[in-house]
Amino acid sequence: MIHVNEGQCGLCAHYGEHHSDDMLVQIRIDGTAPEGYINECGHPAVEGLHLRTPANGACDGFKAA
Ligand code: SF4
Repeated sequence: MIHVNEGQCGLCAHYGEHHSDDMLVQIRIDGTAPEGYINECGHPAVEGLHLRTPANGACDGFKAA
């Protein structure tokens, strides 16, 4: 498992914005994610690029979920 901290994708409102799943809900509750979990970033700046990141990725577009 990997730890997901404030400022990282797993706790960002844009993470899985259009592709939420049960695991993402669990990541936000537990603050941990399975190794290899990825989801799509829904930030408008990368719309159309289908950027997929691990739960412990990060960028300056973070917005708390
Ligand atoms: S890449 Fe940035 S905007 Fe997208 S989910 Fe991660 S922290 Fe949020």
